[in-house]
Amino acid sequence: LPAPPFKAQTMARPSNNNSVLSNTVPSKVTPQDFVFIQELGHGSYSTVYKATMKNNPRQFYAIKVCSKTHIIKEKKIKYVTIEKNALTLLSQFKHPGIVNLHYTFHDQSNLYFVLDYIPNGEVFHFLYSQKNNGVLPDNICKKFVIQLIDSLDFLRRNKIVHRDLKPENLLLNDQGRVLITDFGAASALNEDRDQCESFVGTSDYVSPELLLHNKCSYPADLWALGCIIYQFKQGAPPFRGANEMGTFENIINLKYQHKKPINPDIQEIIDGLLVLDPTKRMCINDLKRCKWLRDIDWNNKQLIWRGIWE
Ligand code: ATP
Repeated sequence: LPAPPFKAQTMARPSNNNSVLSNTVPSKVTPQDFVFIQELGHGSYSTVYKATMKNNPRQFYAIKVCSKTHIIKEKKIKYVTIEKNALTLLSQFKHPGIVNLHYTFHDQSNLYFVLDYIPNGEVFHFLYSQKNNGVLPDNICKKFVIQLIDSLDFLRRNKIVHRDLKPENLLLNDQGRVLITDFGAASALNEDRDQCESFVGTSDYVSPELLLHNKCSYPADLWALGCIIYQFKQGAPPFRGANEMGTFENIINLKYQHKKPINPDIQEIIDGLLVLDPTKRMCINDLKRCKWLRDIDWNNKQLIWRGIWE
């Protein structure tokens, strides 16, 4: 199976509210407290390093360093603020499926997010590894899907929409558990505001309601989940066109096919999630009741969160 020719890129997210630069409380922590071991990768406004603290070299962290000049120049302040606020809120609960933020600090040049280091890379790389070659076996796919459903349930209870779910934003820990990362496109909803409006996300996974009405809510993450499950079984995202416009057209026309034979119980979930009308799309409770997942005891968190290598 050919890997997709390119990684899905998060779409541009312009903004110019500048609160995060002033309201990150300067703390006693400085970059000099850490040993930066290696670069893990970089995103549109940050570079992530593996690091340890000088006074505790056994504990590894992933430190996301965001250049203040770059954030201002690229008008990304709103998105760094969202990422910080969402991760701060969620990290209080230490949910097993969300990358834990220990704290943030800043100096004159940069903002620093001190995150748990997740050692086994992106699900994207696992999917396109030599072993998997673009298709996950049903049992591994099921494990990932169960964990993602539990994490999305948790996000919903905390009124957060991630809005940029994709295999590149899912990390694998040492036991083979899936953790959601990169909350830079997230949105916090509440009683007064039950929809988000800005055009964010990644074209392959963007929901039709965002494309057509510039509005989305929790079902947008379930649409992305449908795209991801399809990709786990078919080797490429369902709507990818020759270019971004082609992809958008495929999405709004719901143009996708199950090219390879697929377990009908998995197909039922994909087809139930890839529904144009967000009110008719499968919700978390529908997913929990469907045939493929009917045997899962959703209260048994220990079992749900057992990794694929345990
Ligand atoms: P963008 O922010 O533009 O969407 P991105 O998701 O690639 O891009 P980051 O979230 O900054 O950007 O991550 C950059 C890289 O660092 C990713 O490739 C990811 O694999 C790696 N990374 C991020 N967080 C961690 C972590 N907690 N542990 C291990 N690796 C991480």
